[in-house]
Amino acid sequence: MANNIYIVGMGPGSEEMMTGEALHALEQSDVIIGYTVYLDLLGSRFKGKELMSTPMRQEEKRCRMCFEEAEKGKKVSLVCSGDAGIYGMASLMYEIGKEYKDIELSVIPGVTAANSGAALLGAPLNHDFCVISLSDLLTPWDKIEKRLQAAAEGDFAIVLYNPSSHKRKDYLMRACDILLGSMEKERACGYVENIGREHTKVAACTLEELRNREVNMFTTVFIGNSGSEIINGKLITKRGYQIERNSDICRDN
Ligand code: SAH
Repeated sequence: MANNIYIVGMGPGSEEMMTGEALHALEQSDVIIGYTVYLDLLGSRFKGKELMSTPMRQEEKRCRMCFEEAEKGKKVSLVCSGDAGIYGMASLMYEIGKEYKDIELSVIPGVTAANSGAALLGAPLNHDFCVISLSDLLTPWDKIEKRLQAAAEGDFAIVLYNPSSHKRKDYLMRACDILLGSMEKERACGYVENIGREHTKVAACTLEELRNREVNMFTTVFIGNSGSEIINGKLITKRGYQIERNSDICRDN
């Protein structure tokens, strides 16, 4: 029978935010492979498993490790934070998988930072939205700029992944400057840091304020659309319902 590898989205960090299906896949596995930070987040529950890792930036090596372990007859899970198919390892696994015809792959969905971050901020994605990564490691910056401009032009709510890293400290500022070229500086925005982990931080602010905020590689940023509002500290993108306010009802009566 063909060996199977689970490509598991573990959600933002805490076990409560992992799906039952993801937990089940990990429990079924002999080996769990992933970036060290994610293996550490899994905690003691999976200490009995064989845990294998490669440093950051060695993604191809990590994927090959999965296939090699599966070929030995072991049940393997590859863990990614959030969802494995959103800036994760799922597509690379399918690309490399062409060389390993006997091994089947199953992607187990996870709660991506856009969802978990949106829930903490309120409801910033309750209309059409798009997701853009500011990392130019695998995408040229001029393409990222074009996508930011196009998203602004389309009046999408926008989620920014990878807004900063040690080497790319000013990328959020650069992205905000592009958006400020066509958006008003009061545009409702927000950001969330360390979702589902220790020291979670949630903030709503204007686009002008966002430009000067310090973010890091564990921050996800939200830009509202032209109708978004900060209501009682929460970032809200409206569906468009016409609501009757209580005061109107009282006056009419
Ligand atoms: N596959 C992941 C995304 C990996 S790209 C997912 O679906 O969520 C890495 C980026 O994801 C980070 O730079 C950050 O923008 C976001 N991110 C991932 N985990 C996060 C967390 N716990 N808190 C806040 N942002 C997070």
